[in-house]
Amino acid sequence: MTRSRQPLFDYHRAQYVKSVLELSQLPPDKGWEVAFIGRSNAGKSSAINAITGIRGLARTSSTPGHTQMINLFRLDQDRRLVDLPGYGYARAPRTIKERWQQSIDDYLESRHCLRGLILVMDIRHPLKPSDQQLIAWSIQCEVPVHLLLTKADKLTPAESRKILKEVNTILEPYGSTLSAQIFSALQPQGIESAQACLDRWFN
Ligand code: GDP
Repeated sequence: MTRSRQPLFDYHRAQYVKSVLELSQLPPDKGWEVAFIGRSNAGKSSAINAITGIRGLARTSSTPGHTQMINLFRLDQDRRLVDLPGYGYARAPRTIKERWQQSIDDYLESRHCLRGLILVMDIRHPLKPSDQQLIAWSIQCEVPVHLLLTKADKLTPAESRKILKEVNTILEPYGSTLSAQIFSALQPQGIESAQACLDRWFN
């Protein structure tokens, strides 16, 4: 019999703190933050809900009002999950897109407590140019990135494994700061591995 792994932190107790438009409204830059990032509609909110086991914690909607905010959730006094605006929201006007991009860039560049990034991407469309740009930035800044290849329920297990292998081959030269896993919020699949990554970064 396989025993399921117990996470170090009680992700189920995550609580919504607030949503901010401006970096100046963020909590003090202390403790540790892990930020979820990805293209709009990749499945970022669903992943946060699945990992915490709290339905509706991060709303799964693509309305611009929600997606342009930085949403914060606390695990305890020192540890927070951050839901960054989805990039590449196709229907948003250019000026709004630029503002989102700016707030993501500002957050990434200025936040000292950022411990790692969970980069969420649809397993059927991995490593789009915007994802690659983010990975290039993370390598330069030595911020660890863990890729969630989500919506794996849309593929067969063999197809998912093939894509993971291809992605790992691309990531390999960059060493241990980059990692990837198969995930599905719907099935669900890969929750424990994602929690194990958060455990490592938060511990
Ligand atoms: P976000 O914009 O990145 O926060 O994406 P959402 O979490 O709002 O998800 C976008 C759409 O993808 C919604 O219709 C979700 O129901 C769907 N979705 C998210 N995760 C999964 C998944 O693991 N499997 C499937 N089949 N659909 C998913």
